Order: sequence, then C-alpha cells, then structure tokens
Amino acid sequence: MTEHTRFGPAGVPPMFRLMGATMADVPKLLHEEGLDAFEYQASRWGPIPQIKMEDAQKLGLEAIKSDVKLSMHGSYFVNLSGKKEVVEASKRRLIACATAADWMGAYVVVFHTGFYGKFEKDYALKTCITALKEVSDEMKSLGLKAKLGPETMGRKSQVGTIDEILTICQEVEGTQLVIDWGHLHALHQGTFKKMEDMRVIGEKVEQQLGTEALRSMHCHFSAIEFGSQGEKRHHTLDETQYGPDFHWLAEVIVDFGLHPTMICETPFLDVDARKMRDTLKEVSESKQQKL
Ligand SMILES: [Zn+2]
Repeated sequence: MTEHTRFGPAGVPPMFRLMGATMADVPKLLHEEGLDAFEYQASRWGPIPQIKMEDAQKLGLEAIKSDVKLSMHGSYFVNLSGKKEVVEASKRRLIACATAADWMGAYVVVFHTGFYGKFEKDYALKTCITALKEVSDEMKSLGLKAKLGPETMGRKSQVGTIDEILTICQEVEGTQLVIDWGHLHALHQGTFKKMEDMRVIGEKVEQQLGTEALRSMHCHFSAIEFGSQGEKRHHTLDETQYGPDFHWLAEVIVDFGLHPTMICETPFLDVDARKMRDTLKEVSESKQQKL
C-alpha cells in the first residue's frame, strides 16, 4: 500500500445499514465515496471474538480489493490498572480483538488503557505498562501481527495523556501511536486554540518516538464538547462552536509531510471523513501554490 493520508469512518455509516449492506460490502461502498480507511468496531466484545473467522477474512479480502486500510477499535471493557481479575479479563479481551484483527488484516487494535481509580497516576501507568508487556509477549507467542494501539484519552479519570501514551509506546514492544485529537482538546478544556498548539504535539512525538512514528500515526478526529472533567460528547464538523479545527491538523500534516490514517469519529462518520479529506487537499494545494 502506498504511503498517503487515508480517511475513513469509525464503524459502519448508518446510511450503509439502511441500504441493507453487509459488513463485507463496506469497503467497496467506502471506496465509491472516495474513502480508503475503515475502523471496525469491536467495542462491545468480551473474551472471545464476536465475528466469525470466515466473515472477518471476507471483510479483509474486500478491503484489499477496494484499497481500504483496516483498523479495529478494541473492546471498551478494558482496564489495565484495576484489580487483578479486571486486568486479567482485560488482557483476554485484547487478545480476542488482536486475534480477529489478524483474521481481517486490521493493522492495529486501538484501545483505552484504563482508569486511575484510587491509584496514584504514576502507579496506574506502571501497572498498565506491565500488563501490556504481558499482552504483547502473548501476542508474539501466538504469532499475532496486529499492533497494540493505546489511545490518548479525553477524561481526567482515564490513563492516556499524550505523555503517558508516548511512554507506553516507548516501553512496550509492538505498539502503534494513536492520537485522538478531539480527546487531547477536551482533556484540558480546549487545548488547541491555534495551529501551533497542534504542531507542538507533532514535535513532541517526533522527539520521543522518532520521525517515522510521527509520520505513520493513527488518528481519531471529531469536534468535541467538554466540561470540567474533560470529554462530554462528539459533534459534527459543521458545529463550529466545538473545536478543534481540522484545518490546523491539515496544515500540520502537510508541513511535517505526514501520512496518518485518519478515522472520523463525528456523528456523520463517512460524510465528515470526506470533508476532512477535502480540507487536506485544499490546504495542500494552497501551500503548493505559495511555493
Ligand atoms: Zn477510542
């Protein structure tokens, strides 16, 4: 697959369901819309894959045919800094997701690392890293190829600041950086006030993980509403009272020469994914004209 910025929805667009499409039809329909990424939602999964192997393989084949890059959003029922039973169950869920990710050829399993709960933040992070190393080792011994994608989180109760995610990516083998720009924005009640605020994140990533990790980052994007505790709800790109502004990220993508996979998490999924794609094209063309 060529290295370029890809766009696609987080889950099956509602219109596809209304049309009676099956999961295997999704890549072709996205391709017809000019999109080239899809994040399969395994968000309600328990300890075993909730898709049949043959259905996952069919989705994978269709994705290759339509040049759609697959990723997976892993189970929401993961907390790697909780009680021992909770951590063990979380590890099982991640392995189940990674198993099915391999069936369909999804390159990363995105997940929410955990909650601080009663723990000190540093201790919670350490616990998560220990558990993730065990998951990574087990995946290796099972021969699973998908990457583990810890995501930057939007609520104060959740493990997943940018610094924590960078530390996890440095310490755990087989990880893929996942930046949710809406979450970063919400966590500190409006982090991104101008384009430079996003550049800072890019520079930080490059310093700590290197240029290639920055170029190939996996991203979630949505306009987002926040309160004192962080993220409240996702909004469409047209609701411009909610940030962050995708134009700024498009500028960062062009300036740094990035080729991220951009997953749209607004309520309009594919429609807004196309808007983001068009914005990047506009920004890129206007910068070339200035050269
Ligand atoms: Zn997520």
